[in-house]
Amino acid sequence: MPNTWITDLEHLPPPDVEVPKASRVIADYFFRIADEAIRLRVGIEEITTDIHCRRRPGRRPCKGLICMQVAEDGRLRWRCPECGDNGLMSNWNDQPCQGPYPLYLEEKQVSLLLRYLDDTEWVPILKNGQPEEGELKFELDMDELDDLWIIVGHMMDEARGAMVDKLEVIQDRIGWAMDGC
Ligand SMILES: [Zn+2]
Repeated sequence: MPNTWITDLEHLPPPDVEVPKASRVIADYFFRIADEAIRLRVGIEEITTDIHCRRRPGRRPCKGLICMQVAEDGRLRWRCPECGDNGLMSNWNDQPCQGPYPLYLEEKQVSLLLRYLDDTEWVPILKNGQPEEGELKFELDMDELDDLWIIVGHMMDEARGAMVDKLEVIQDRIGWAMDGC
């Protein structure tokens, strides 16, 4: 099975930091993918780059060229169409995000939040989601996302069983929204 590399560019050693050779090689590979994505202004349509796949299946260099696109959550999705090596990269585009940050929630997730947040300033916001691809899209600023993240954290502290899982999924989505716009 091909690997899916989940990487966060902020957690990789920058090019001028000395690390073991194998780590350097793989980190540089990811930096190269990110640089190319920025240079080519990669969007949601998948494009093929001229970056050769670094894998060597059967000890022969893979002939694939890396394809990439921006995933719905803003991460960079890349893959080799030949061998299937692939990954999702966060913080690949270090231009600062000014917001608003799109937050996508399912309708039932919004209902769940509204049950807890009736009587708060969140009601008009949560009732104003724009339908997009079967979900509701909210445009929030970083303070609002931060508030909501903390609120859902408090809800999780008081919840039990399956409700904790449901809230955790919501909190994950808020986290993704914070990752970029
Ligand atoms: Zn390959």
